[in-house]
Amino acid sequence: MENKNLDVIIIGGSYSGLSAGMSLGRSLRNVLIIDNGKPCNRQTPHSHNFVTHDGKTPAEIAKLAKEDVEKYDTVQFYNGTVVKTAKTTEGFEIQTSSGEKFNTKKLILASGVKDIMPDIPGFAECWGFLLSIAHTVMVMK
Ligand SMILES: Cc1cc2nc3c(=O)[nH]c(=O)nc-3n(C[C@H](O)[C@H](O)[C@H](O)COP(=O)(O)OP(=O)(O)OC[C@H]3O[C@@H](n4cnc5c(N)ncnc54)[C@H](O)[C@@H]3O)c2cc1C
Repeated sequence: MENKNLDVIIIGGSYSGLSAGMSLGRSLRNVLIIDNGKPCNRQTPHSHNFVTHDGKTPAEIAKLAKEDVEKYDTVQFYNGTVVKTAKTTEGFEIQTSSGEKFNTKKLILASGVKDIMPDIPGFAECWGFLLSIAHTVMVMK
């Protein structure tokens, strides 16, 4: 990557990170979105309650969202994992698992949440499907 001095680095390139990236990119900020491709909904078969995207798979929605943001030359993407961040006098230094370093004035954490599964045999494997059913039942009630 050529430009390693950014206005904003966003850790996490799923819905939150891409939304932030689009707003900042449109505002002519030089943005880098770093993502390692593990959104929390990756196990679910399809999404609900999301107007214009009802019934699509998470991968389909993520692809469309990324294509929207890719239209802005001010936004760059990096596939990788951030392992270290440090405050500097100018902002922050970010390090990835491959040892690459970037500098940025501002840092956005859009790395999502980690769901902690109960210790019930088979529960984790069914998580995406279970949540999908729960959404449907909530809508029917
Ligand atoms: C099973 C399931 C089903 C769901 N179904 C629906 C639904 O039907 N409708 C609906 O509206 N919502 C649904 N949701 C909720 C929706 O998926 C979340 O609200 C949404 O994904 C949150 O987006 P996010 O960008 O905050 O986090 P995430 O989507 O979790 O994205 C976080 C991103 O950050 C990246 N990341 C994390 N740490 C690092 C790091 N150190 N370096 C680089 N990258 C990193 C991850 O790889 C990931 O891509 C569902 C959630 C789950 C778990």
